[in-house]
Amino acid sequence: MRGHSLTGIAKMAPRPLAVRPPERSLTIPVPERLQEKRGRTMDQLQSRLMSLPLELRQMIYRSVVGDSTMHMILKENKLGHLRCKAPSAIQCPLGFNGRTLSRECCWGTVDSANIWAPRRGNVVEPTDGDILPLLQTCRQIYSESINYLYSTNTFSFSDLDCLRYFSTTPRFSLIQTLDIEWCLSWPIYDPFAQHLLLSNPALFPPHDEATWEETWRIVAAMPHLAFVRVSLLYFDGFRDPRCEGRMLAPLWGVTRPKRFEVHVSWSGDEVEGAPFQLIRPVVQEVGEGEDEDGEQW
Ligand SMILES: [Zn+2]
Repeated sequence: MRGHSLTGIAKMAPRPLAVRPPERSLTIPVPERLQEKRGRTMDQLQSRLMSLPLELRQMIYRSVVGDSTMHMILKENKLGHLRCKAPSAIQCPLGFNGRTLSRECCWGTVDSANIWAPRRGNVVEPTDGDILPLLQTCRQIYSESINYLYSTNTFSFSDLDCLRYFSTTPRFSLIQTLDIEWCLSWPIYDPFAQHLLLSNPALFPPHDEATWEETWRIVAAMPHLAFVRVSLLYFDGFRDPRCEGRMLAPLWGVTRPKRFEVHVSWSGDEVEGAPFQLIRPVVQEVGEGEDEDGEQW
């Protein structure tokens, strides 16, 4: 629309497309004096970091970008990550914020679509985990350190869509430790309960069965996965053990991790022969240290 004016209707008419000469370059020609520098990696001889042996540099990279827990979050149109404030993912306390599981000490709050919101008032928390400054320093540092980011951190998810989106990043396959919290807020794999919902389809992504199965196909295909910890919350528990069995079925495909724990919030039978360890809540028996009303004495 360049050059048109509102003074004449003829000028508003579509213009024929210009024919581009085949030899014409799509980019602005780089001035000759800059051509040598363009696309080159500058040597880092003056850098004290680069004068260290590679092994020492690798230790530094790992301590800056690795060996931590990254809580992955959904933001408007993109993903972010918050570095866990607890010493390890296992020590990061789980909480329930009224809609889904959340780690209140780290995650802050989310809206109804699980989009992250900065915590309290005017405090804006960085969502790059404080690792970007090092990675953006230069190409050599980036290429030497980027793999530590993926291979030595625990990646923690509280949203299945977030995990699915993140799985498209090029180095996702390097991840070795995965932590997933998920709230089963709708009657997944329970046709009878879904029928009562009267909506069509009964469940919507990411709470539907297709998203659940796709998530576990992604996890099953992660080649370097060594430890997976899953925490599932379901207020009502499963009405029928067969429904629970159908929900757990996609997890049987995840066979690579050396350690695979599935913590659930409801009681039920033991599951034998699975590649995961199903950990149910401890039910305290009445009688030991309590009277008939469950009061401790
Ligand atoms: Zn945390």
